[in-house]
Amino acid sequence: MILDLDGVVYRGRQALPGSVEFLAWLRRQGIPYAFVTNNSTRTPRQYVQHLQDLGISVEEDQVVTSALCAADLLRRWELRGRVLVVGGAGLREAVQRAGYELTEEADAVAVVVGLDTDLTYARLRTACSAIRRGAHFVATNLDANLPVEGELWPGAGAIVAAVRTATGREPTSVGKPEPYPFEMALRRLGTSPEETLMIGDQIATDVLGAFRLGMRTALVLTGVASAEELERAAVRPELVARDLAELLGRLSHDP
Ligand SMILES: [Mg+2]
Repeated sequence: MILDLDGVVYRGRQALPGSVEFLAWLRRQGIPYAFVTNNSTRTPRQYVQHLQDLGISVEEDQVVTSALCAADLLRRWELRGRVLVVGGAGLREAVQRAGYELTEEADAVAVVVGLDTDLTYARLRTACSAIRRGAHFVATNLDANLPVEGELWPGAGAIVAAVRTATGREPTSVGKPEPYPFEMALRRLGTSPEETLMIGDQIATDVLGAFRLGMRTALVLTGVASAEELERAAVRPELVARDLAELLGRLSHDP
């Protein structure tokens, strides 16, 4: 089973209804599970800590972030040279762990853009120069917004849009709904798409991406998607539940 984090398991520092019980049930049943998030700012270790604080035990290799997917793509492309990161600690660490040295100069072979809460005009300018000189342009995800405590903050997609507008170049995006995070999670779980359920709170990323790979899909209404949005959606999740508590009730009766 694969779960999105924000809006499914927790919102900010608050565990959502049923999430602790849901994950305890998965462990008792011996059902392998992993988490996938488009948020590239935190490291897997930070997610493990955050989940443990909520009472959910998890190992680092059960957490797949868009930062890991971006770093994995650079390696698969067999790029050699330094990488310019526009992003947070999670993205910088992932790229470095993939064996790349970071640079603040326009000599980069790749520019990886994610959510950068310390973004400066100088960094944006260098990133655009590097891309114009031929660097690969990778985006962690294209999410326009990041829901934070009842507010919508500009997401990675807003920063990617600035680079795209300035350079006229299209990025390769690795976040949901693209297949990379689901594929990485499936590899780690060792399960096939058909036997794996993806639980998310967003139709355009979680449900759509999983659906395209032939996975089973469930939507919980504790995050971004509303019942009204579901009415209009082109892709219908197989299961819809108010929260993980309700989903647990249904799955534990009919696994
Ligand atoms: Mg979410």
